[in-house]
Amino acid sequence: MNAEIITVGDELLIGQTIDTNSAWLGMQLNQAGIWMSRRTAVGDQAGAISAALDEAFARVDLVLMTGGLGPTKDDITKKTLCDYYQCGYRLDEEVLNHLTHLFSKRGRKLLDINKIQAELPEACSTLMNYMGTAPGMWFDRAGKVLVSMPGVPYEMKHLVETSVLPRLKSRFTLPAIVHRTLTVINIPESLLSKELEPLEQNLPEHIKLAYLPHLNTIRLRLTATGAATASLERSLEPSWEDLLRACSPYLLAASDTTAVAHCAAMLQQKATTLSLAESCTGGNIAHLFTLIPGISSVLLGGVVAYANSLKSGLLDVPEQLIHAHGAVSGPVVQAMAEAIRAKTGSDYAIATSGIAGPGGGSDEKPVGTVWIAVASAEETRVKQWHFYGTREHIIERATNTACHQLLLLLQAQA
Ligand code: ATP
Repeated sequence: MNAEIITVGDELLIGQTIDTNSAWLGMQLNQAGIWMSRRTAVGDQAGAISAALDEAFARVDLVLMTGGLGPTKDDITKKTLCDYYQCGYRLDEEVLNHLTHLFSKRGRKLLDINKIQAELPEACSTLMNYMGTAPGMWFDRAGKVLVSMPGVPYEMKHLVETSVLPRLKSRFTLPAIVHRTLTVINIPESLLSKELEPLEQNLPEHIKLAYLPHLNTIRLRLTATGAATASLERSLEPSWEDLLRACSPYLLAASDTTAVAHCAAMLQQKATTLSLAESCTGGNIAHLFTLIPGISSVLLGGVVAYANSLKSGLLDVPEQLIHAHGAVSGPVVQAMAEAIRAKTGSDYAIATSGIAGPGGGSDEKPVGTVWIAVASAEETRVKQWHFYGTREHIIERATNTACHQLLLLLQAQA
């Protein structure tokens, strides 16, 4: 089944906001068996919104719309839809109660402009938005469904997950879809696709392989489409096993995850602790770990030892070692990892030192050279890497790789 997305907002057209809603929606609907066949962005103008709707409904039976539902004057989607469906407004008591509760919890007075958000077109049913103030709206007329949602990404996502997707599944007959995703690291996409060519050619007609690359990781997703979930699960198994085998040299995780998240999960599973000594990654590893709820059971902490003086002063890296090998070197990251582990008493440690660029490179150590050490009580593993891309990319690639190195050490000591 095909659907279209219409995103509303002048900010999307002048480049002030990147339309991430469409990308996310496309992915979610695709996983539910709905193919997003077109995306349209329109400004905050009633004529443009109605015209986009007419055009989309001439092609498909389902349109998802985001944006323009706020309480301000430029948010005209609700009024436009009221005109489009030629109906009046009704007061939605449940939305009003939610707004009253929300504002009192935030210690704010509910203004008339906010109360208006509880007035919805008579032609729609309400999609309660417990993450914000603007409810979603579900219009279903003459076999055509329009779902209008707020533009704020986390509110839209919440609505889709809690009410839109379940409702779409009961409103339309969707094919059964089963996905299995794994994540690989530090293998170029072109090289991987060459290696997987025979596997891909042998896939049954109803199973497809998708590449979803991001920096030095690639998520590989197998999707089986058919009539019944249970038989799809069974039919996917041999292809999944083949894919796992083919990817084993580069496998980060047999799931859809990130290097940091998987590393955190493995550390949590083993009930072990981690400390960090970061130079070129500048705290990025610590930052990403900190975003994971419950990480305090694993992450003891660490230092950002950027300057050589801090490498010596805080981590006791001998000055002669830095002098002899340079700060970006195997012996220095090894000393950093072992020192932070000893000082914090953690089970494991990661240390990084490298040249993130764009300046600072040399023939011997070009921009992108990064040394990574991972340490446990039994062993310290040290390896040099050459990453490419912008400064930010090099930091992210080093972060992913450091976590992967730790995962390999954890697996070896399982
Ligand atoms: P609000 O209740 O906040 O007014 P709204 O439905 O009116 O919600 P907008 O005013 O259009 O939504 O946008 C609210 C916020 O969401 C803005 O910060 C905007 O940049 C962001 N946003 C809107 N549309 C998109 C989109 N397609 N992708 C990503 N962000 C978006």
